[in-house]
Amino acid sequence: MPKAIDLSGKIAIVTGASRGIGRAIALTLAQHGCGLVLNASQSKEIFEPQCAELRDNGAWVVDWQIGSVADPATIEGLARKAFALGKRLDIMINNAGVMSEGLIGMIAEEEIDRVMAVNLKGCLLGIQAASRLMRRGSGGSIINVSSIMGSVGARGLLTYSASKAGILGATRAAAKELAPFNIRVNALTPGFIDTDMSRNISAESYAERLASIAMSRPGTAEDVANAALFLASDLSSYVTGQVLGIDGGMLI
Ligand code: NAD
Repeated sequence: MPKAIDLSGKIAIVTGASRGIGRAIALTLAQHGCGLVLNASQSKEIFEPQCAELRDNGAWVVDWQIGSVADPATIEGLARKAFALGKRLDIMINNAGVMSEGLIGMIAEEEIDRVMAVNLKGCLLGIQAASRLMRRGSGGSIINVSSIMGSVGARGLLTYSASKAGILGATRAAAKELAPFNIRVNALTPGFIDTDMSRNISAESYAERLASIAMSRPGTAEDVANAALFLASDLSSYVTGQVLGIDGGMLI
């Protein structure tokens, strides 16, 4: 008999969890019994109904922290809440991210700073905070949500691609440094996933991306969440430093 994935008693932090991929990951982890500390940059009203839904779906505890992942105080707050809930952190999902489109000569310096701060610095701060907590326990799994654009890049996505490529380097470096503490660090590289982020790109880019998918459909947030569940669980107990594409064959 195959064993069901059981995350009851465990605690996960999910950044950027108010919608899209982060929300789907939170729901999937809840359905496997995990406790959750959620984050997003929006107003607090967003999480009250969502926390109830997550409890109804199996999460044993839920809390949340509003704020930008680029602000160290937000990340410290998330870690404090995880410790307060369960005296532990088992799973860290560094998912929060922002899209940025623009041709190279047209990108303002402030935009470079904004995207790097959220997408890359936010992830680095998340890795730091998670590793400190996980080292006090028996290890854990850190999952960084990068993008296929971090591997292959695209016209008009200079800053976004650079920020996502940075996550891949950080994932490998952290995997090497943290392996002795039984902390696994892996990255997901979603391709083209149907969320608010992908719906907001230009019609021209949308058509171009869709045409490049071997499976001829955008991915769903649940497709990504199932891959995150694998990396979060003991099914991937010997997997670290890896980059897992969820792209319907965009890269074959
Ligand atoms: P989305 O725009 O639907 O959701 C993004 C989430 O991040 C929201 O909850 C938002 O509140 C949060 N967020 C944004 N800035 C934040 C900040 N400074 N601090 C904290 N939270 C913040 O996007 P999505 O499609 O669900 O993307 C999730 C992740 O997946 C991102 O890192 C994105 O780059 C990556 N990704 C998405 C796709 C895609 O096609 N949708 C493809 C590859 C990678």
